[in-house]
Amino acid sequence: MNKIIPFVSDANDQLKALWLDYLENEMSEYKIVLFENLSLNQIQNAKVAIVANPKPTDIALMSNLVWVQSLWAGVEKLMQEIPDASFEIVRMVDPKMAETMAQSVLAWTLYLHKNMPAYKQQQMQKIWKQHIEILAEEKNIAVLGLGNLGISSALKLQENGFNVLGWSRSKKDIQDMTTYYGDEGLNQILTEADIVICLLPLTQATNNLLNKQKLDLLRPNTALINFARANIINYKYLFEKIEKSELAHAVLDVFESEPLGADSVLWDNPNITILPHISGPTNMKSASKIALKNIKEYYQNGLTPIFVDKKKGY
Ligand code: NAP
Repeated sequence: MNKIIPFVSDANDQLKALWLDYLENEMSEYKIVLFENLSLNQIQNAKVAIVANPKPTDIALMSNLVWVQSLWAGVEKLMQEIPDASFEIVRMVDPKMAETMAQSVLAWTLYLHKNMPAYKQQQMQKIWKQHIEILAEEKNIAVLGLGNLGISSALKLQENGFNVLGWSRSKKDIQDMTTYYGDEGLNQILTEADIVICLLPLTQATNNLLNKQKLDLLRPNTALINFARANIINYKYLFEKIEKSELAHAVLDVFESEPLGADSVLWDNPNITILPHISGPTNMKSASKIALKNIKEYYQNGLTPIFVDKKKGY
């Protein structure tokens, strides 16, 4: 009989059915079964599960879990909701997602570089005014986080002529890129940036990382793109600075509470662009392939994928 792999998710029935289709399509030697359709025995015997926003109460019943494969790249919520998990967590590391994110980063960087927010405003007021365009190579784009998503975004920006600076936890040596690390490095990169792109995971170390003091290091013509997690940046202070023209623009894809409430002040500022968490979506097909490749390696060859380092938080 095919080995059973539980799929634990609080998504709606339609979305779960779609995921099941993709997952089952990728590997016929396993039987992917929704958590709610498992027997208690199957729940208790499962060693590996595929998860997408699982209910902590469901996961708690899976007493023999060795590791879970998240379908998301960010596992902040999972780690927060199940802080003392006895099992390991594998996050989605997908080159296709990295490519999609890199395209989003490039698109919204060009949006800022090409002054699109200003031209949109001008059209609404029927104003004919040309802005001086600075060459891409003269624009310093600071990419915070040089992991799976950050590095492909940084390289895509480089390919398109921008001067890219990078910041990460550990020191990096990347061709034609000035890289920084540590707190001093962060101070330095922020003072040099024309556009800051946040692609960091949310951890204890990055929570409120871009606080008042760090945001004050940015020059008034600097813009910020946050495609990571809201709590890395002090949005309240960011908003105040944009209102006072002490920062040029913010493109925000992530919010503390999603969907963003209709009463949020962020919606109405012309220098804030709101996106509904779309910069780096999981691709169902490629993610299913990766999840099931990891599971196959584990069951057939005894190899475990790289686990999230719970101490570091990513
Ligand atoms: P990743 O591969 O784990 O890379 C994380 C990067 O951040 C690494 O370069 C790491 O440095 C750096 N970093 C971590 N903590 C740091 C610290 N305290 N100081 C400086 N640098 C630090 O993660 P990823 O796959 O690129 O994903 C990044 C985040 O993007 C996810 O956690 C998620 O929140 C977010 N995300 C958003 C969307 C969206 O649609 N908006 C989609 C997917 C993911 P080292 O290289 O030195 O380890």
